[in-house]
Formats: sequence, C-alpha cells, structure tokens
Amino acid sequence: MSLSGRGAVVTGGGRGIGAAVARALAVRGAALVVCARTSREIDAVAKELRAAGYPAHAVACDVSSEASVTAMAVEATKLLGTVDIVVNNAGISPSNPVKRLPLDEWNRTLAINATGTFLCTRAFLQGMIDRRWGRVINVASVAGLRGSQYIAAYTASKHAQVGFTRALAAEVAGQGITVNAICPGYVDTPMTEYSVSRIVEKTGASREEALERILATSPQHRLIRPEEIAHVAAMLCERDAEGINGETITIDGGAGWH
Ligand code: NDP
Repeated sequence: MSLSGRGAVVTGGGRGIGAAVARALAVRGAALVVCARTSREIDAVAKELRAAGYPAHAVACDVSSEASVTAMAVEATKLLGTVDIVVNNAGISPSNPVKRLPLDEWNRTLAINATGTFLCTRAFLQGMIDRRWGRVINVASVAGLRGSQYIAAYTASKHAQVGFTRALAAEVAGQGITVNAICPGYVDTPMTEYSVSRIVEKTGASREEALERILATSPQHRLIRPEEIAHVAAMLCERDAEGINGETITIDGGAGWH
C-alpha cells in the first residue's frame, strides 16, 4: 500500500485507461476521485472500488470548462482531504482530413485534451507545492511525438499536452513534484473501438480489416491492455520514481523503432 495517505484524481476515469489507472492507484492505497462527464460510468467505477474496500468517489466534471474544473477541485479536496496525484487522462480522438476539419472539432479537441490537462493540473498545483509532494501524469499518446494522417487536431492537442508536461516539469523541479507523460500506441478501449468504426465507415473495410490496419502499426501486432498503462502510471507515483521528471514514456510495443 505504497500510496496510502495519498489522494488521487483521475480524469476520464469512467472507462478504458482511466478506469484501469483508478484501480491500480486504489490497490496501492490511494483514495480516489474519478471524474468524467457521464455520471453513470464514473459512479459504476467508484462503486466497484468501494465494494472492493477502497475509498473512491465519483465527481462529474467537464475538463474543458474552467468553472466545472474549479467545482470538481473543491469537491475532490473536500472528499479526499488533499489531492497529491492528478492523472490527466480525459480525452477525445476525432478524425478528419485537414481540408474537411471543422473549426469546432479542432477547438473542442484542443479544449479537452490540452486545455483540460492545464486546468486540472493548475487546480491542484498549489497544494502540491505547499506540501512539497505531487505527481502529475498526463496520458498523452504517440500522437504527441509524431504525426499521422487524418488526426491533425488530436495530434496538435497531444503535442500540446507533451509540451505542457515538459514545461511544468522544469517549473516545479526540486519542489517534490514530478510531471510526466505516458504515450501509448493503440490501447484496447472504447476509443480504439471508435477508431475501428471510423475506418469501417470511411473506407468500407470490414471490422476485421479495419482492426488489422490498427494492429499493423504495432510490431507486437496487438492492442496494449489498459492495465499496462495503469502499471506505468502507478509506478510513476512511487517514491523511488522521483527522479523521473519531464519524460515521455512510450508504450506501443516498439513501433518507434521499426
Ligand atoms: P475512452 O474513450 O475509452 O475514455 C475517455 C474518457 O475520457 C471517458 O471517461 C470520457 O468520459 C472522458 N472524457 C472525454 N471528454 C471529457 C471531458 N470533456 N471532460 C471529462 N472527461 C472527459 O478513451 P481511452 O481510455 O482509450 O483514452 C484515455 C486517454 O488515453 C485519452 O486521453 C486518449 O487520447 C489517450 N490514448 C488512448 C489511446 C487508445 O488507443 N485508446 C492511445 C493513446 C492515447 P465522458 O465522455 O463521459 O466525459
């Protein structure tokens, strides 16, 4: 129970990677607040954790809204006492070629993936500085490190998330706080299922063919499991991870090397 006494907020904690991260932190003793817009999903995750004996709460929040994040931060602090760990995982991944990319899709993607990371981090940063301990973990993407076709808004938002990670890591270095980004390849979650359905819709490929295109991006020819991302997020919270700061940790089966 290496994280006992720590309060953690996981955004996008209602399903997929966020739910797995919440479970991994809870098992290690952290008290959890999971947030997202869909109450039904975050309530189910919090209920599941409580049933297993872990302190967990659901707080509805839209990370792209400053007012909503402020209200969530007040509620999370009330519920947890202190928030020492923030996992900025909430995200969306629309796709469109740039020539047909609507401005509102561009703005929404940046607002959730990039600005949401900034707002949720800022909301808890002063407390971490005061206590001289904190962990900020940003679930970015390999799209934060390189470019791919048809996901310009997503790629820009993830590059922004990675840039924010590096800048804040430099800003808080030496204050007991670390800030890192995890950059997964395709993970087995509803988001990837959505990507498969978009390929089917746009190309007329079968579901199997669409999935194969995604699997072909991995030298391991598989989707990463959400628990693999959660494992690294939990590791970054350990005391002995305090020297890891401003890093981007890629989890993609080695695609960057092939
Ligand atoms: P899912 O779509 O399965 O889950 C996304 C979560 O984010 C949901 O809980 C969703 O809840 C929440 N969310 C979305 N918009 C908002 C918002 N405005 N405010 C609060 N919560 C929000 O995605 P994954 O679990 O796959 O992805 C999690 C993160 O990992 C994302 O940042 C994604 O970019 C990143 N990632 C995913 C990869 C993959 O292959 N799946 C690969 C690389 C990175 P709700 O809609 O109810 O708000």
